Amino acid sequence: MSMLFKLLLLGGFIAAVYYAFFKKPALSGSKKDEKSPEEAMIPCLKCGTYADIKDTFVRDGHYYCSRECMEA
Ligand SMILES: [Zn+2]
Repeated sequence: MSMLFKLLLLGGFIAAVYYAFFKKPALSGSKKDEKSPEEAMIPCLKCGTYADIKDTFVRDGHYYCSRECMEA
């Protein structure tokens, strides 16, 4: 076995260990900071009022806070 191959094997092993130990905490950490799409606030195209994405009306890819704004 060549020295280079051993080094590559060692590097792969270290990378695997690194991902096993550090990938999960990093993912959960970034998840905390990012808001899920369900919690996102969307500005109404008509009046600019921010509304919860669950309560918005969508037409042609634009978000509106109410049916009145959407149909205006
Ligand atoms: Zn509106």
